[in-house]
Amino acid sequence: GEATSLPDIQPGRLEIIRNEKPIPPPPSRTLKFGHTFTDHMLTIPWNAIEGWGIPKIEPYGPFQLEPSSTVLHYAQTIFEGMKAYRDETGKVTLFRPDMNMKRMNNSAKRIALPTFDGEACLELIKELIRLDRHWIPREPGHSLYVRPTLIGTQKYIGVAPPSEALLFVICSPVGPYYPNGFKPIALYGTTEYIRAAPGGTGAYKLGVNYAPGVMPQKEAAALGYAQNLWLHGPEHYLTEVGTMNMFVVLKKEDGGFELVTPPLDGMILPGVTRDSVLTLAREHISGKNKLDQLTDNLVVSERPITMTEVKEASLSGRLVELFGAGTAAVISPVDRIGYLGEDIHIPAGEDGMGSVSRPIWKELVGRQMGSIESDWSVVV
Ligand code: PMP
Repeated sequence: GEATSLPDIQPGRLEIIRNEKPIPPPPSRTLKFGHTFTDHMLTIPWNAIEGWGIPKIEPYGPFQLEPSSTVLHYAQTIFEGMKAYRDETGKVTLFRPDMNMKRMNNSAKRIALPTFDGEACLELIKELIRLDRHWIPREPGHSLYVRPTLIGTQKYIGVAPPSEALLFVICSPVGPYYPNGFKPIALYGTTEYIRAAPGGTGAYKLGVNYAPGVMPQKEAAALGYAQNLWLHGPEHYLTEVGTMNMFVVLKKEDGGFELVTPPLDGMILPGVTRDSVLTLAREHISGKNKLDQLTDNLVVSERPITMTEVKEASLSGRLVELFGAGTAAVISPVDRIGYLGEDIHIPAGEDGMGSVSRPIWKELVGRQMGSIESDWSVVV
């Protein structure tokens, strides 16, 4: 068709406008997640007639947007989140960034924003990270959070695919999600609100999926819970935790363990961390890559799981662990779920990590930070 013959993202046309007033990165210990941004950003304009235009790396700063821009009315915005790490030798790596580029294109398709060559975009993101590499804190657990975003910018009051769009990428130095070590969190199993529904947009990283979660989050916090546990249907299937995927570990009849996560049924965001946890567990089971301290008597299930099953497992002592998984916190152990007026308790050690999550977390973080070599780590 016509659209595919338009120019895609062209890294060779990159223009760099250096920030003449760079600021010194703040001390790492003062960093609050998502509050500080580096000196530069990447912008790539698109329009329906010329396709993708000239990519620019320019000083981080405000945009000029017309009040009629479609993004401001119909939430034509999608985003990604990934991390760049810098090791002791100064080497900078991204973790499985190809997955973020693929997911961003899937999101774009779902919301009728333009798709793009993910590899070309990644090349430009690497260029941006190289320019601002001194912003990446070296302390353990620190990283640079990279936020690619795509918005509809057409000046138009009307719901339609926008004829103009802007892809931009900003970067934020971040410390560990749990600066004082892991602390298990309490969840509110919400029966009042939903995050996603069949045929909806939960499986895509659209801005529109997030704003409606803020008020339920406030309500959960007022009740003393850190996050919502999003449930689905009259059976109260577990789906996700706040903005993380989730896993449950159950003890089997034979004394072994089952690692359960809800299937990608259209309501679950296909998380990079989720896929990594599943892959590491399966490679351990198959013998391809054995993990220290992890039992061999383990099965992995992508299957629906209800609150009734979780509650019964808790009462019968078969509930071993429940944890969230996502880029920001990596693994987030849970020790309590408020559900229909009572609390379900989950055994958690002092740091919350259990016998299944700990070995997987160790391997995952090792591969992210580069202390364990793997092809998941991509040099910038
Ligand atoms: N679910 C939701 C709703 C999310 O926003 C995120 C964060 N992107 C995740 C799960 C985890 O995905 P990932 O592991 O790719 O960060």
